[in-house]
Amino acid sequence: MVDEQLMILYQEMILDHGRQPRYFGALEDYDYTLEGFNPLCGDKLTLYLKVKDGNIDKASFQGEGCAISMASSSMMLEAIQGKSLDGAQELFEQFHAMVLSQSFSADKLGKLSFLEGVKSYPSRIKCATLAWHTLESCLKKACCHQKK
Ligand code: ZN
Repeated sequence: MVDEQLMILYQEMILDHGRQPRYFGALEDYDYTLEGFNPLCGDKLTLYLKVKDGNIDKASFQGEGCAISMASSSMMLEAIQGKSLDGAQELFEQFHAMVLSQSFSADKLGKLSFLEGVKSYPSRIKCATLAWHTLESCLKKACCHQKK
């Protein structure tokens, strides 16, 4: 059974992130940046990562898009601050599995699992995963460019 009040709380949190995205704005000092685009909806974002000792020291994003893409980007940015690159990759995999209705760990995703509802709207899945796909591409680059 769905807990209505909890659902309302989740929705409010997602709307709040959409209206007031966290970690929004370019980083002056970054190691990696990458642009992402979702042609289905027109969502655009640029991701900035500062990597230090195998961890995401700082991360931010800029862009414009629908409420779901903005909320998902904002929540992702909040979740990856200070994470190891491996940890961020794992979060990507869990998030991706969740929206594709595969098995995932809600414990690992924490608040990000509030976005699970998006899987019922196939046309919005790309909105929710845009930031994550951009992050994953960036992580791959970050890993192969890491200094010894
Ligand atoms: Zn969108």
